[in-house]
Amino acid sequence: MDYEPVDVLVIGAGNAAANAALAAHEAGARVAMLETAPVDARAGNSAFTGGAFRFVYDGIDELLKLDPSIADLDLANIDFGTYTTEQYFDDMGRLTDYRCDPDLTEVLIGGSYQSALWLKRHGVKFQPALGRQAFKVDGKFKFWGGLACHIHGGGLHLVAALHAALEKARIPVHYDTTAYQLLTGDAGIQGVKARRGGRSFDLRAKSVVLACGGFESNAEMRARYIGPNWDLAKVRGTRFNNGYGHRMAMDIGAASAGHWSGAHAVQWDMNAPPYGDISIGDRFQKHNYPFGVILNARGERFLDEGLDFHSYTYAKYGHEVMKQPGLFAWQVFDQKIVGLLREEYRIARITKETAGTLEELVTKLTGVDPVAALATLKAYNAAPRPDVPFNPNVHDGFRTIGLPIDKTNWAQRLDTPPYHAYGVTAGVTFTFGGLKVSTEAQVLDTSGNPINGLFAAGEIVGGLYYHNYGSGTGLVAGVTFGRIAGEGAARA
Ligand SMILES: Cc1cc2nc3c(=O)[nH]c(=O)nc-3n(C[C@H](O)[C@H](O)[C@H](O)COP(=O)(O)OP(=O)(O)OC[C@H]3O[C@@H](n4cnc5c(N)ncnc54)[C@H](O)[C@@H]3O)c2cc1C
Repeated sequence: MDYEPVDVLVIGAGNAAANAALAAHEAGARVAMLETAPVDARAGNSAFTGGAFRFVYDGIDELLKLDPSIADLDLANIDFGTYTTEQYFDDMGRLTDYRCDPDLTEVLIGGSYQSALWLKRHGVKFQPALGRQAFKVDGKFKFWGGLACHIHGGGLHLVAALHAALEKARIPVHYDTTAYQLLTGDAGIQGVKARRGGRSFDLRAKSVVLACGGFESNAEMRARYIGPNWDLAKVRGTRFNNGYGHRMAMDIGAASAGHWSGAHAVQWDMNAPPYGDISIGDRFQKHNYPFGVILNARGERFLDEGLDFHSYTYAKYGHEVMKQPGLFAWQVFDQKIVGLLREEYRIARITKETAGTLEELVTKLTGVDPVAALATLKAYNAAPRPDVPFNPNVHDGFRTIGLPIDKTNWAQRLDTPPYHAYGVTAGVTFTFGGLKVSTEAQVLDTSGNPINGLFAAGEIVGGLYYHNYGSGTGLVAGVTFGRIAGEGAARA
């Protein structure tokens, strides 16, 4: 293998890894990267993302620095609002049952806007998330929280831009090369053992950054840590996040952190392939359920679809689907909502049924008890509601009253045919359990001391997410901790 010893060896080639490598290079280090995937499947989950990017902003001036073309929009009819540090903290606390590591969360939030600017400097483009995070009501868009801009072109653009920056910096990426063991000596980390094409070899480096994602692609680890049946879940993204990073660090005494039995899991087309398909990206997801009704095989509703905006419930509702018989559910909408449905509801590869009546629709929902389903939909329609208007941009309080599980917002009746239904199962996005790191992204050992020369960034870091997750946080965390890890590794 054509490998010269380097100062910093980065494991992975996704968002966290690329930013760590660029930061280490800019700090003066000689850097190389290892990627277990072939070049055409590089960059892990980062390539699959929709590009949501959650950062603190104080108003439109800060957004204009990211995307000057925002000035050309009809700004009188767009309310971008702000997303303050306090709101971000509140969201992280509320969504994780106040378990998120406060020090890491502070670093994440404090660095979030700078991370967006850093990406822009490295060729990544942003655009306002109109239609995804703000609906047009009475001629005006209003953003509901935290996600004013996303990455233009999603993960594929992000990865193309970052890898162009890596090439410009002449940072080599060794593809088809899997790191599986850390090399250590008296002074700390000395590199890794890696495998390529059936051959193993030692790759020397003064420090190593583990940025090789979660363990979601490893069915055995999913079942072992997340629990029964999670080996059966579909994986939304890469098939290459194998969990070696977690294992090799813990093998040399690294401490674990975070919610090892937790994962980000969403409603995902029930006939999607076992792993992500990059030509579809994130569009097997079905995120407009807050405006519809979800039924299980018994024909029952099993959660409050309108509990919150999808950004704040989607990552935990995959778990609710996993608890249902047969591990599937159907989302039901009527024509009043069809115009609001995101693009992901209009792709060709979709599990979809339509019917002119609810009676007919329930007979088309594969695996569902039609009698019970019809009774559930009729009871849902018959439930009393307060006299308030439906408004998708706010928690409208348009709720049902008196159902076994009420729908607490956006509870319009299903009364306008034709009706649409979409079959979903759970798709796991990434795992929450990871390595314990310091605020300097140093991997800590089980006694709490930094392991000399070992850093981690991205989804392999534990401690930020428990139970739930606010959309757009993963990429920001990868950039923020990736930069810190890269700089720290260069110093080391
Ligand atoms: C469908 C989908 C949509 C998403 N949408 C968003 C979104 O809109 N916004 C958001 O913030 N987040 C989103 N996410 C989450 C986001 O993808 C992750 O938070 C982020 O990309 C993780 O980056 P990472 O660098 O830690 O890991 P990854 O991008 O997964 O990169 C890990 C890399 O390590 C490599 N690797 C693994 N093991 C080894 C090994 N042993 N040796 C060498 N290489 C190895 C992998 O091949 C991969 O290249 C989405 C995820 C999915 C799947």
